[in-house]
Amino acid sequence: GLSLSARARGIAPSPTLSIDAKTKAMVSRGEQVINLSVGEPDFQTPPEASLAAVGAIAAGFTKYTAVAGIMELRRRIIRKLEQENGLRYEPDEILVSVGAKHSLFNIMLTLVDLGDEVIIPAPYWVTYPEQVRLAGGVPVILPTDESTGFKVTPGQLKEALGPKTKAVILNSPSNPTGAVYRRAELEALAEVLRPADCYVISDEIYEKLIYGVEHVSIASLDEEIFRKTLVVNGFSKAFSMTGWRLGYTAGPKDVIKAMTSLQSQSTSNPTSIAQKAGVVALDHFDPDVVEEFRARRDYVLERLRGMPYISCAEPEGAFYLFPNVSRLLGGRYRGQTIDTSDRLCELLLEEARVSLVPGSGFGAPNNIRLSYAVSRVDLEIAMERMEAFLGEVE
Ligand code: PLP
Repeated sequence: GLSLSARARGIAPSPTLSIDAKTKAMVSRGEQVINLSVGEPDFQTPPEASLAAVGAIAAGFTKYTAVAGIMELRRRIIRKLEQENGLRYEPDEILVSVGAKHSLFNIMLTLVDLGDEVIIPAPYWVTYPEQVRLAGGVPVILPTDESTGFKVTPGQLKEALGPKTKAVILNSPSNPTGAVYRRAELEALAEVLRPADCYVISDEIYEKLIYGVEHVSIASLDEEIFRKTLVVNGFSKAFSMTGWRLGYTAGPKDVIKAMTSLQSQSTSNPTSIAQKAGVVALDHFDPDVVEEFRARRDYVLERLRGMPYISCAEPEGAFYLFPNVSRLLGGRYRGQTIDTSDRLCELLLEEARVSLVPGSGFGAPNNIRLSYAVSRVDLEIAMERMEAFLGEVE
């Protein structure tokens, strides 16, 4: 009849959307809200990449391409993965998709059967559990907190692995915590994963935004892990190309082949001109961006640590801070009770005009996510406002 599918009805609306909608409504009324809820870098796409796209349009490179992406781009991605990550792939082990989110969706639909379990350490990027559910799977959430640097332990993983486990998702550097797994930590996880009959999905989209530590792809540890790992990466974060919609998966031939068939019946190839831009972008990563993000992280971290009720772990990657606000919960601001981090974010928006995302959607209700992908001036104003707000909490 005239009703939506159970699948569509089951999708949880993004918990960040209400804050986002409210922020936009306030901005459109002319209110000076500082938006620290953004998930995209504030610098420009490398101009060389943009010019390559303009050239592609001028040259008429505006038609369907191979579903998996043009050979030129897949070969360039292969070279990147070899040089930067120590991973060796063939072109039929690469699938370029319409953003890393699309890559992940292809993976879930390709691997997950009804009732299959996918292990997801929390705090997690909001999209992972929803995609697993859309594919008919069951997300198995492993909680982590500041005590382990927001990292899952081998013991936790071992306990969660079972006959129904289809895959484990790792995201280093992490959105929302900024946690980065060290080589030794990955080795310890790999020891548990090696005998397990499941895939590893390694979302490495923030790999280049990393401060003083080394990014290690779990797939690079040894041949056994390599053969069961799907490496996901993209252009959005490292190259500020969120609007171009370009991401990719590298992994076992049979999985990539099935994902490519799926993609051939849904989106077909990613946009031809975006692919041409991607080829060039990979030659133009700007290391100044890392320095800028690092300086902002240091600034905001110092300010937050100087504020009452808040504690904040030092993130080593991405562009988020994930302060713990549990000591604020139960407090009052001008007669209004701050009972949850959701409520805290509402009040910060309404009363302090700073927009942040509550941790509930990331599986971490004691935290809030702050993006520092905004100018230093805006960060300074936001910190002043937060500090003034907290000064009135009783
Ligand atoms: N993975 C993580 C952890 C992210 O935070 C994001 C974007 O927010 C993505 C993947 C998807 O990025 P895109 O689809 O723009 O490539």
